[in-house]
This record gives sequence, C-alpha cells and structure tokens, in this order.
Amino acid sequence: MPENTLGNLQKKIEDRLRYHQELGISLFYRDRRAAETVSAGCESSRIVSTSIDSQEEISLPKPGSQITPERSAATTSTSFVGNILPTGGVSLFTAVEKVKDDSLLKIREDIGDCTRCKLHKGRNKIVFGDGNPKAQLVFVGEAPGADEDKQGIPFVGRAGKLLTQMIEAMGLQRQDVYICNVVKCRPPGNRKPEDDEVSTCSPYLLRQLDTIAPKVLVCLGAVAAQTLLETDRGISQFRGEWLEWRGHKLMATYHPAYLLRNPAAKSEVWKDLQKVMAELGLQVPKKVKST
Ligand code: URA
Repeated sequence: MPENTLGNLQKKIEDRLRYHQELGISLFYRDRRAAETVSAGCESSRIVSTSIDSQEEISLPKPGSQITPERSAATTSTSFVGNILPTGGVSLFTAVEKVKDDSLLKIREDIGDCTRCKLHKGRNKIVFGDGNPKAQLVFVGEAPGADEDKQGIPFVGRAGKLLTQMIEAMGLQRQDVYICNVVKCRPPGNRKPEDDEVSTCSPYLLRQLDTIAPKVLVCLGAVAAQTLLETDRGISQFRGEWLEWRGHKLMATYHPAYLLRNPAAKSEVWKDLQKVMAELGLQVPKKVKST
C-alpha cells in the first residue's frame, strides 16, 4: 500500500511537471529550504526568482555569431522571493551621503590622489572605471591587477580580455557598458582587498553606481557580490539568481579570472549573461555550438 501510494505520488508529480513544461513553465526550486533560509533580513538586497535553465551545455559564442530571440525582456519572470542576510554590523552603503548633482567627474575629483587606505602605497594608477556613463549594464570586479595598475583602466589584462569577449558575445561593445571595481588601487601581489580597504573605497563605488543608475549590475566574482550584497555567503549559493540592490537588478556570476582557471564554468556564466541579455531586451541566442 505505501509503495503503491508513493508510486502514485511520483506519477502525479511527473504528470504535473510535464504539464508545466508543456505550458512553458520551468520555475521549480531545487531546494526549497535554501530559498527559505535567505528569506529574511537585509534591506539592500533581495533574491528574485529565476527559471532553472535547461542542462544544455552552452559555450560563449563567437562575437558576431548569429543570435536569435529566445525570450524578450517582457517575458522574463522575476518575482521577489527573499533576501540575502547581511553578515551583521553597519551597512557599508546606508551611511553614504547623497551628493547633489553627482557625476563621475565629481566622484573622480573627490577621490583625487587618494591616500585614504594603505593600497595607495603600492599603486601606480588609480583605476576609477571605464565605459559609458549612462550604461544600462555595469560590471563590478574586485580590484585592479598589474596591467590595470599600469594603464589605469579596469579589466585590460588576461581576465579583462575574456570579459571583453563575454561583452561582445552579448552583442555589445565595451564602450556600451561601464566597468569598475570594488577597490580602485591594486592590492599587493593581487591579494584580496581587505575589509578596511573595501570600506574606504566603497562610498565611491556606491556613488558611481547611483550616478550611472544602470538597469542591471553584474558582480564579477565573490568579492564584488559579497561587498554589494553585504553577505559572506559563497557566490555559488546565489550565482545566476536575480537579486535586487538599491533598485538595480543584480546578477552575480563567476569572475573571468576564475574562468581562465576553470574553463568548464564558462557555460554557467554564459547562462547568467543570457538572463542579463533577456532583461535588457537583447536578443538571446537560441543555441550556440562552441567557441
Ligand atoms: N580583475 C578585477 O577584478 N578587476 C580588474 O580590473 C582586473 C582584474
């Protein structure tokens, strides 16, 4: 009897799933508990549900490859389902005062020849940010590396070249988007920025993001995501989910430097970027063969 009941239940679930799939609905939580544990707390960030993508392996397409519509921004499903808990303490962002008629120029002037944190000692150039000051899409990385420190431009080294390819695969150019980092000076030996460095630099990042007011923010890697979301959760727990940060839609994905070490993760990032494309009304490739 119990076996029979279980069998019936499984069949009912399968039928129901098939029915939903036929309707084109694929929004099912893999782990309801995980969704619930992030459902209370922080004011500045909220998880927005996303459909679970097909398990199809997709690689980044070559720039210029044919892209065909899959779904439009209008059909993107985004309902709020919870929050990411801050790890405690005061928010990095709530205390930052709004600057009247703020602009990227003003922010850069305010930064000046910064000596506010210890990173200034080893830097060559401050890496403020690069791209369209009215971009709909902003990428936030971690910190400048050696190449960026030399040139004063974010993401121009190996990881930067991959980021540029990713942007082009989305049908955009670097000058269409804005790119910046959590901290604006290179940490020695490319170590992770320390808390005091992040908290010293983050008001400028906040002002940049408020000024640009993009529709979508993409956090590249854990440092960017954890800083903006004020969480110590591992990025893999919320990567690929739509979140909300101060009125902007936020997507966290893996850092291009991680992809250089783990090329297999490119397909995950490409799925995330396709969600971003759909949100921005860009044409999403139906199926792409390989890079
Ligand atoms: N990695 C980053 O996070 N930012 C850069 O600007 C370059 C590499």
